[in-house]
Amino acid sequence: MNKNKCLQCSEAKGQGKAVKCSQCEFFAHANCVSIPEEVCNLLDSSTNLRWFCDRCSSLGPNIKKLTSSVDSLRKDVFNKLSTLNDLNANIKSELENINAVIESNKEKLNKLESSDVFRGELNTLKNDMKVSFADIVSHGIKRHTDDIKAEVKTVQATINDAKQIKERENNLIMFHLPESGSDRVDVMKILKHLSNNVVDANLVHLTRLGKNQTIILDRCF
Ligand SMILES: [Zn+2]
Ligand SMILES: [Zn+2]
Repeated sequence: MNKNKCLQCSEAKGQGKAVKCSQCEFFAHANCVSIPEEVCNLLDSSTNLRWFCDRCSSLGPNIKKLTSSVDSLRKDVFNKLSTLNDLNANIKSELENINAVIESNKEKLNKLESSDVFRGELNTLKNDMKVSFADIVSHGIKRHTDDIKAEVKTVQATINDAKQIKERENNLIMFHLPESGSDRVDVMKILKHLSNNVVDANLVHLTRLGKNQTIILDRCF
């Protein structure tokens, strides 16, 4: 293709009327594309009248198609952007709500912290807890100690009982022992008369139950 040659006959421009394509700027003889001389004059004198060669005219609709698809794409993008904007607005308002809740909670907390009543009640509660805990512990320990003491007393009593029973195992009772002299001497005389093995240490305890009455000898032998 040569811009100096007619699009139709491929000859040079020459002296005759010619039209130039507004798109590709190739020319064609007016006669070759059947354009009357008056139309050629109008095209020359007017800036709003344009001529397009066959090739560029056939491209026209494609450009329109392209333009319309670009337009629809642009609409899609615009719609998506507006959806995004809506989402952003929602998120923003949610965040604002959350912030408001946080702020209000902060305020409440500050009020509570600065409130003497609250502080006082908290201290009372703390003290109550301390006192009741100490009470519980001391009562518990006291009860436990009392139980142990009672148990020890019972054991002690049992031991004493056992001891007394053991001590009484070897008791002897003598009747009609004269009150002449020493009971111990008299009793030892009788015991030694009864057995050769008796020594003074065998008579552990001696008790007279009333005058001219019975003598109980504890722990003989
Ligand atoms: Zn031509
Ligand atoms: Zn053209």
